[in-house]
Amino acid sequence: MIFRLTRMDGRELLLIPGPVSVEPEVLEALGMPVRAHYGEDWAADYALLTENLRQIFRTRGDVFLLFGPGTAANEAALASALAPGDEVIVCSNGMFGERLRDLSVALGLQVHLVTAEVGYPVLPELVEAAISRHPAARLLAVVHHETSAGLLNPVHEICRLGRRHGLLTLVDAISSLGGVELEMDDWGIDICSTVANKALGGPIGIAPLAVGDRVWAAVEDGRPKRTGWYLNLSNWRDAPRTQSPIHPHPTTMPTNVIDALAVAVKQILDSSLEERHRRCAGAADRVREGLGELGFSMVVEPPYASPLCTAVWSRPGMDVARYQKWMRSERGLRLGGGLGRLYGKSFRVGHMGRAAEPAVVDSFLNATSDYLALRTA
Ligand SMILES: *Cc1c(COP(=O)(O)O)cnc(C)c1O
Repeated sequence: MIFRLTRMDGRELLLIPGPVSVEPEVLEALGMPVRAHYGEDWAADYALLTENLRQIFRTRGDVFLLFGPGTAANEAALASALAPGDEVIVCSNGMFGERLRDLSVALGLQVHLVTAEVGYPVLPELVEAAISRHPAARLLAVVHHETSAGLLNPVHEICRLGRRHGLLTLVDAISSLGGVELEMDDWGIDICSTVANKALGGPIGIAPLAVGDRVWAAVEDGRPKRTGWYLNLSNWRDAPRTQSPIHPHPTTMPTNVIDALAVAVKQILDSSLEERHRRCAGAADRVREGLGELGFSMVVEPPYASPLCTAVWSRPGMDVARYQKWMRSERGLRLGGGLGRLYGKSFRVGHMGRAAEPAVVDSFLNATSDYLALRTA
């Protein structure tokens, strides 16, 4: 793959909603000599990173750093807590809600779907109705930031309902953790998944999974699960004992990637989590205002529009693919396309990682304005 040089970054800058372009210090950690994934120094660094992530998840639960994509964390959660045949309520209003459904089906679970149209939030009333209709359901799963539409689901209310009815709650915070408010313990979230390379501004390759107290009884209830070995959360919890305290995870770790994530996480906490939230929200506001002035309208309206990604309707007669191609080749800015039902009719701009920098937002808006002037000239 050839990367075109641009004025901004030496490579194209990613304005897609993940993976994100990262800070130079994060890249530097990736380029360091390889270190071993065990030893006292390693275990101390690993413990510090998981402790820092606990602060970002806002939980007193355990945090595990799965070496894999976000989907692996969701799979580990569902497969470890539930047995084939168990009933699960899955909220879905876009591609990633559908992924949770497909994952559940693949694990042999009985899925009850609560849906909403693309661009609209899953309504807590509908979730409550589904819980009453399916009293045997054990777990409720919902995506926090539905990245395909740039929409935040009301997970706080949804998880509170789940708790009240005795269900375990799983939140896919893969594209939201670190970029927008999320209170795992206070909101009644039992298991929460994320990835390093979206709102946390880290490298690709790690899926942090936070597991609350209530989950362990389900994981260890003796019923046969479909986890295999690597995605079995018991093996992650027991690793410091079954492996060694200086090898606190079941398998080899991508050490440079973990160190790079530690840098990204420290950057968040050094300035403060709230400051990071404000930075993403500020970028989202500027993008929407600028695009509004250029005649665009947004797919999702406040208050459900996410501060992490904006889906934008294309203007009448506009060829979205051509615009994206021009932005990439002429300005080194890579935008996301429309997904699912939004394909060909919209594009997406991420506000995570370096895409949240004011200078990047300005160059994006200027480039879009230049493109429109060219096409109408
Ligand atoms: C990106 C994303 C995923 C999938 O993440 P992978 O790392 O590709 O497995 C799942 N859910 C949401 C909300 C996402 O944004």
